[in-house]
Amino acid sequence: MWIYPIYISKNPIESIDKHALNNSQCTIRHWETKGNAFSAIFATNQKHMSFKDLKLNRPILRAIAEKGYDSPTLVQEKTIPLVLNKKDVIVSAQTGTGKTAAFALPILQSLYDKQEAPKKGKKIRALIVSPTRELAIQIENNFQSYSTHTKLITTVIFGGASIEPQKEALKNGVDIMIATPGRLLDLHKQDVVNLDYVETLVLDEADLMLDMGFIDDVKKIERLCPKEKQTLLFSATIPYKVEQLANTILKSPQRIEVAQNSSTSKNVNQLLYFVPKPQKIELCLHLLRNTVNGHIIIFRRTKYGVDKLEKSLLKNGYKAGSIHGDKSQTDRQLALNSFKKKEINILVATDVAARGIDIDSLDAVINFDLPSAPETYVHRIGRTARAGNTGSAYSLCSADERDYVSNIQKLIHLQLDVIEDHPYPLDPKAKKEVHTSKKKGSKHKKGRKSEASKKKKKRWY
Ligand code: AMP
Repeated sequence: MWIYPIYISKNPIESIDKHALNNSQCTIRHWETKGNAFSAIFATNQKHMSFKDLKLNRPILRAIAEKGYDSPTLVQEKTIPLVLNKKDVIVSAQTGTGKTAAFALPILQSLYDKQEAPKKGKKIRALIVSPTRELAIQIENNFQSYSTHTKLITTVIFGGASIEPQKEALKNGVDIMIATPGRLLDLHKQDVVNLDYVETLVLDEADLMLDMGFIDDVKKIERLCPKEKQTLLFSATIPYKVEQLANTILKSPQRIEVAQNSSTSKNVNQLLYFVPKPQKIELCLHLLRNTVNGHIIIFRRTKYGVDKLEKSLLKNGYKAGSIHGDKSQTDRQLALNSFKKKEINILVATDVAARGIDIDSLDAVINFDLPSAPETYVHRIGRTARAGNTGSAYSLCSADERDYVSNIQKLIHLQLDVIEDHPYPLDPKAKKEVHTSKKKGSKHKKGRKSEASKKKKKRWY
């Protein structure tokens, strides 16, 4: 196999379209010589795999072609053969790599031969557990479109929505079930769900599942499935607790790692505004009036912050919606759909609610609060400037978030452009704000919580 550079840059971070990066013909490398950082994109003559090489059935290939997929992404290339061979796998890959199809396609392929079972006699033979409702719905949409030329039936169940239609769907018989943990256990308790026939169990976004306090629920669900089954674990990161979980429930798993892309697209204009915390709202409104246009996601750290900002935006005449963990499922889906259909142009969201959601063609991301994990910054701004488009990321940094900026810059090997010319500058000597205990009688309502999080910890997202 030969490999040669097709593009070399002195700019340390350059990136190309995610699917080009994810296929085996291109690879990106970074190195340093005498203090200068370089990047290069290399091409190889390695044969590019096709979906046919993965030996998928015709109805599935037809559906993939209709979706417009030319070739498998790296995670699909590596995962599909192993899943078809009934291996347990741990895959570390983020949303955007094509990981849903990496498990959906081989599952459909395996179930295809037994699809003729009479409708009512259908048993749940594949179970996909997802931490958030939006992600569960998105996974179901993917299964629906990949199985459009088969007789396989998929359903999705999640909390925060009426349980009756979900029960009805289950009574009618399904092959594939996508579920959030709390509602799945509720329905199992009510004897509506039978997991005795599950052949493949998928735990998606396992790290988020643990963060959200679902670990015990996940273990319970695993025990409700037959011992002899295939388990696939997908996680953006593999922290110690995910590793531990994998060790207890997976059998001799194969590991697949799709390199975390810590580079940020060169097409994203990354701007940093230092601003006192109380004036972030004014600065945000100023930016929306004068600088930021188009389709925008604004990230906030807390649910309370999301609500507060959404109210201010609406009061100021902006077409905005919001998603976070305390909103009803209907409200979350309505906001997301209006945003996707461009009926509203601003979506305010917490990271967790927005994670895993596939929203393309954003013009800008505003980091109203900076994330404490630098990878989250990369993830957030990766939602703009996709497929060669340009985009902008505006980060508002208060005195207590300065350390976050240093960590982000270290991770992306890039200094963000500091914009000093704005009406709400931060005094460079300003000290971190000291957090005082919560005022008594706070108006902030306690919202819906899953059983798991009630037991484990308070959800702040
Ligand atoms: P995921 O990482 O599963 O959320 O997928 C991210 C996006 O990539 C979704 O919009 C998929 O429809 C799309 N996608 C998945 N596989 C492919 C492929 N092989 N070629 C092109 N697009 C794909």
